[in-house]
Amino acid sequence: MAQAHILGYPRIGDKRQLKRALERYWQGEIDQTQLQAVGSELRHRHWQQQKQAGLDYVTVGDFAWYDHVLATSLLLGVVPKRHRKETIDLQTLFDIARGSQDGCCSAAASDMTKWFNTNYHYLVPEFEQYQKFELSWTQLFDEVEEAQAAGHRVKVSLLGPLTYLWLGRYDGEKLRLLPELLSTYQRLLAKLKQQQVQWVQIEEPILALELPQEWQNAFIPAYQQLHGQCKLLLTTYFDGLGSHWSWLEQLAVDGIHLDLVAGDVDDQQLLGLPRHWVISLGIVNGRNVWAADLAKWLARLSPLQQQLGFRLWLGSSCSLLHAPVDLELETELTDEHRQRFAFAKQKLDELVLLKRALAGESEAIAACQQRSQRLAAKAPAPVPANTQAVESAVRPLSYAERSPQQQLNLPLLPTTTIGSFPQTNAIRATRADFKAGRIAETEYRLQIQSHIAEAIQRQQEIGLDVLVHGEAERNDMVEYFAEHLQGFALTQFGWVQSYGSRCVKPAIVVDNISRPEAITTSWTGYAQSLTDKPVKGMLTGPVTIMAWSFPREDLSRQQITEQIALALREEVGDLQRSGARIIQIDEPAIREGLPLKRSQWGDYLDWAVGSFKLAASSALPQTQIHTHMCYSEFNDILPAVAALDADVITIETARSEMALLDAFGEFDYPNGIGPGVYDIHSPNIPSEQAITTLLKKALQHIPAERLWVNPDCGLKTRNWQQTEAALTVMVQAASALRRQL
Ligand code: GLN
Ligand code: ZN
Repeated sequence: MAQAHILGYPRIGDKRQLKRALERYWQGEIDQTQLQAVGSELRHRHWQQQKQAGLDYVTVGDFAWYDHVLATSLLLGVVPKRHRKETIDLQTLFDIARGSQDGCCSAAASDMTKWFNTNYHYLVPEFEQYQKFELSWTQLFDEVEEAQAAGHRVKVSLLGPLTYLWLGRYDGEKLRLLPELLSTYQRLLAKLKQQQVQWVQIEEPILALELPQEWQNAFIPAYQQLHGQCKLLLTTYFDGLGSHWSWLEQLAVDGIHLDLVAGDVDDQQLLGLPRHWVISLGIVNGRNVWAADLAKWLARLSPLQQQLGFRLWLGSSCSLLHAPVDLELETELTDEHRQRFAFAKQKLDELVLLKRALAGESEAIAACQQRSQRLAAKAPAPVPANTQAVESAVRPLSYAERSPQQQLNLPLLPTTTIGSFPQTNAIRATRADFKAGRIAETEYRLQIQSHIAEAIQRQQEIGLDVLVHGEAERNDMVEYFAEHLQGFALTQFGWVQSYGSRCVKPAIVVDNISRPEAITTSWTGYAQSLTDKPVKGMLTGPVTIMAWSFPREDLSRQQITEQIALALREEVGDLQRSGARIIQIDEPAIREGLPLKRSQWGDYLDWAVGSFKLAASSALPQTQIHTHMCYSEFNDILPAVAALDADVITIETARSEMALLDAFGEFDYPNGIGPGVYDIHSPNIPSEQAITTLLKKALQHIPAERLWVNPDCGLKTRNWQQTEAALTVMVQAASALRRQL
């Protein structure tokens, strides 16, 4: 009989208990013992749920106080010098994650970056010259003991040495650190063996990447060295293994986990794996909210089960960390949607049901069939975007032909902002009151209008050239559009950890997407009625709306994105008709959507760029299209960024001191650029000198006629005092420089 397990469970809690506890701890409202108690309660609850559902193992090691890569760093004694104290404790962990302030001295947090192609962020390990590794943090061993004491059959989840090394930052040849790291892993595994841990799920998701040869070569000897203590389930996810299949079977491990949701593997390949290996197949999607098609899996896996017998394991595709916790809490979803979804807790039941069906239990077989029939009956017809519309959608004139027609009457080096202004308590109260039904729609509109009027007035006083309405009506740049487009469902508690205590609540694409009516025109139009200066219409782009939502599984990401683009194209048309002369379409997520395998980047960028252009294609030559991206790594995607053909792009550059403009300059980027001149993540007010220096640097790469002046990103997380002070300095710097040109 097959065994069932998951790769990990969401640690945040069904009601975000861990988030609340962490934030109260950081505020000094609870002490460490109270925080520990919350963590322990969550772990016990999650183990109990796995056991109760009928899984064969509970997974231990997936809990983390902030992030599991950071927990691995502590386990291995990798603590940046600036955070090192006598002992490594929980405070060390939070210092690395959040930075620390100790009297006069402050130590910066480690960098955070995206976990493969997910929206989860991990803390980047920092290796120093001759980095030593040393078992330094007992959390993992303590939790193993804790779970065993509670009577659970434990399987340990552990980040593998090669992936851990790959994710870190090092000034030198990283693989040189491997021997030392491997001896530490040997000691670690010996300790787990002492604790009588039978299985370790050793995670090497870098096997989903196209690795340099020397990294591939490192795997076989590394695992030879680690083998022989606990049983090792080499665990991969997020994509298929590509050409690594050719050497896979030489690995000294006891089994492998493959993500069949991200890429199916044919039976012959599976049956060709070493006969003593366990084969764990990830079939329940850990990254989405849809119920699994159990009848399909039953048919697919039955023949394999016959051949593999007890060697077959059934698992989640990846950790359930990326899925919301419990569907049962959702009281506002329609029954139809509820029947088609499975959140983390429901996914446990799916695995066990499939396991029982594969074992021939007729009741389970019937239940699988029934669920799948229900899924099929309720599925919307997949309507791919109209291909003709997609293909014919380009702005008719080139940038050089369009731009003289864009009569905006702007000075050289025009100043603007990225869209949002401070989300004050008053603004939040307005939205909350409306949502809770405490104020009627007319009152709500009046209140939002007054927030807009305030933003316009302040911008005029500051002296900005191109204004924005400030986004007071938006809770979130994607959820807002998901609420107003047809085809999305929204949840109440569908939170997923993004990093530390931060969670996001992605909307779910449940149907074909359309736009019942104009979404933003009344706000932008109202803002424009208050001023003669141009007010930018403000939209979130199709790639970003798609990337930050849960997609349906019966259409490709490209098809969903094109549907969104067609809806946005109508919005662009309406904005234009209602008087907007500039429309910004934000695409901060284009880069993160890149496939893990570089050889697939071209295809992705083609449709991502195509979707953006589709959304912008209703713009007349006279309408200026802006876009915004909040990152600074453009080197390898610059041709695609240029292909977006936005009239102006605003990007993050302040933290990298404009270094990236080298690339834009070298590439001869043809259109307008607004490289961010100050970092909005910091509450500090930039000096005029600093902004002038950055602008002068920018002018070395971009002619003044195409240079814009703006902050790095939106200002919603700042307060008005900081915002006004910083923007005033920015406007002063721009006008002083303008006089010198
Ligand atoms: N217009 C959005 C804002 O200013 C853009 C945010 C983003 O790029 N992440 O908030
Ligand atoms: Zn941004």
